[in-house]
Amino acid sequence: MDKKYIATIGLEIHAELKTASKMFCACRNDPDEPKPNTNICPICMGHPGTLPVLNKEAIKHVLKIGYAIDGNVADFTEWDRKNYFYPDIPKGYQISQYKYPLISGGNLAGIELTRIHLEEDTAQSTHDIHQKSLVNFNRSGVPLMELVTEPVIHDAETAVSFAKELQLLLRYVGAGEANLEKGEMRVEANISVASPENTQAKNFGTKTEVKNLNSFKAVEKAIAYEIQRQSKLLERGEKVVQETRGWDENSGTTYSQRLKESSHDYRYFPEPDIPKLKISEIEEFDQKHITKETPELPWVKRDRFKKDFGMTDKEVSVFVDQPEVSKYYETVVEGNSKIIKLATNYILTDYLGLLKKDNKNLETIDAKNFSKLMAMIESKKLSSRGAKDTLVLLMSENSDPEILAEKNGLIQKSDEAEIKKIVVEIVSKNTSVVEDYKKGKEAALQYLVGQGMKLTKGSANPEILKKIILEIMSS
Ligand code: ADP
Ligand code: ZN
Ligand code: MG
Repeated sequence: MDKKYIATIGLEIHAELKTASKMFCACRNDPDEPKPNTNICPICMGHPGTLPVLNKEAIKHVLKIGYAIDGNVADFTEWDRKNYFYPDIPKGYQISQYKYPLISGGNLAGIELTRIHLEEDTAQSTHDIHQKSLVNFNRSGVPLMELVTEPVIHDAETAVSFAKELQLLLRYVGAGEANLEKGEMRVEANISVASPENTQAKNFGTKTEVKNLNSFKAVEKAIAYEIQRQSKLLERGEKVVQETRGWDENSGTTYSQRLKESSHDYRYFPEPDIPKLKISEIEEFDQKHITKETPELPWVKRDRFKKDFGMTDKEVSVFVDQPEVSKYYETVVEGNSKIIKLATNYILTDYLGLLKKDNKNLETIDAKNFSKLMAMIESKKLSSRGAKDTLVLLMSENSDPEILAEKNGLIQKSDEAEIKKIVVEIVSKNTSVVEDYKKGKEAALQYLVGQGMKLTKGSANPEILKKIILEIMSS
């Protein structure tokens, strides 16, 4: 399909970092605190004359991310004052990083990154129905990571999958919860459109920046909408205005908020109250130390699960998106490579479904019992029917599946002598069916197997049953 315009997208993503205290003071960092203005002090309220002190944990979180995405960690870094007036930033400036971000470059999910820096979150204003505005400082001074991508994304789906991968990374390294719905991660999309030739030559069009995207769905819809809107403008011979736009969930459209400010409007200058850092001289910030504290990364795990467990992309993504489920899975299959495939299927299609239905947690059946259940299926002690019944029993009684299946008569009978007795009985009682089979009616055999399953309440191994029926009929 020939396209008249190609979209170009760059993302700016803020993520609140999970630390015990705030970025520059000892107040609790608790974004869930329901009571306004609880975790506050003169520093995070921006009183004049107070002195900010750097939070080492916040820096470590950003370094973890930086090393993970293979970015350049700054040798020298400093903080800057970004000056602007707003009730949620009473000191008149936000402490951020401008010239010397902690991380530059790097790549995540195939998208080139520009930079990652560390700053403080602002307070939150609410405007109530009585025309009053209220300011809550619980969030003020919470460490905030900002990541900026290069303008290298060309469609909404890629933008969303990038943001999802960042969310996963933040969660994996324990840097943050990154829920968009709770504002813990905030995605801003810069969007422009241009002809294929201009796009190729990196001669991008005028961009707009879309904010208030509170879900991945909103990110996707807002970008798609904005591409349409800009394309139509150009088609009509009109121009795109460089501006900040909001996303209106109800109408599914973006609307103009304000003309875009440029960086010189902020009069950035180095923050004199915070020491400048030579990262390379601080041993704890060393790559070796930081990566030692970093768990296996999502993309590494993805490759390993594919390779070691032969999983499909879809299977892998369910496990990798839920680290606790992958840990459970690995415990289940540990030391028994024969149950790898079975455990994948039973966890994904049966167990997770049952847990969700009953709103129960993963440990409802502990990994040891689950593993044993898989081994019983593998060794044919349980038929697939018997396995499903045992699984349901285990859901309400987390115990040894062998004993449980035994007690409930679910163990598959594979004892040939025992099955033979049953078959002799069936064959003698169904002489006409046996005749039908001998005349070439295939379905007659199925009927006889069915009789055997019925007599044994489903506990006979159907393959052995079938084999013996054939033997007896031909003898
Ligand atoms: P600004 O100075 O307006 O903040 P930046 O150059 O700092 O712009 O870029 C901000 C974000 O916008 C980055 O993610 C960048 O990739 C993206 N961006 C820059 N120019 C464009 C463009 N023409 N179209 C789409 N995205 C762009
Ligand atoms: Zn404080
Ligand atoms: Mg910028």
